[in-house]
Amino acid sequence: MNRISWNQYFMAQSHLLALRSTCTRLAVGATIVRDKRIIAGGYNGSIAGGVHCIDEGCYVIDNHCVRTIHAEMNALLQCAKFGVPTAGAEIYVTHFPCLQCCKALIQSGIKKVYFAESYKNHPYAAELFEQAGVHVEQVEANADPFAFEQRKFIDELLEKINDDEERNLLLEKANKLFKSNV
Ligand SMILES: [Zn+2]
Ligand SMILES: [Zn+2]
Repeated sequence: MNRISWNQYFMAQSHLLALRSTCTRLAVGATIVRDKRIIAGGYNGSIAGGVHCIDEGCYVIDNHCVRTIHAEMNALLQCAKFGVPTAGAEIYVTHFPCLQCCKALIQSGIKKVYFAESYKNHPYAAELFEQAGVHVEQVEANADPFAFEQRKFIDELLEKINDDEERNLLLEKANKLFKSNV
């Protein structure tokens, strides 16, 4: 049966969360998953009740916006706030974690990090993940979870073409159009 993969499903959730970001510099979303269940989510934004970058502009020090808490941190802190264990859990992040988040993820026992886009990937972060035995994997970015429905429709149409050669040619085109992520 043709259906959306777990990776695509959880990453789509992170992309959805990124849409809630209040920082104008970068919109990031993170979803923490344990046993194929979402246990927490976060996006980069100010502390609860604080002023937002989108309203007052970013507070930039050394080329970093210091107003916001990163998406990964917010997701971890949600677990801390409500007493949800993160040991052995996995995280889906729209962007490669920064050095600070990398350390926090390792220390909180996260065992797998899936990211959609590379973002200033720090070699020390990659080194720390490796040392800690954290599995890091890039998952094809697919910001449009509905692309799956479109793919299904194309496949249905292709099924109706009797000429094998013609169908294979069009199938190849469809695969290229949708890359291999749907
Ligand atoms: Zn900002
Ligand atoms: Zn970070």
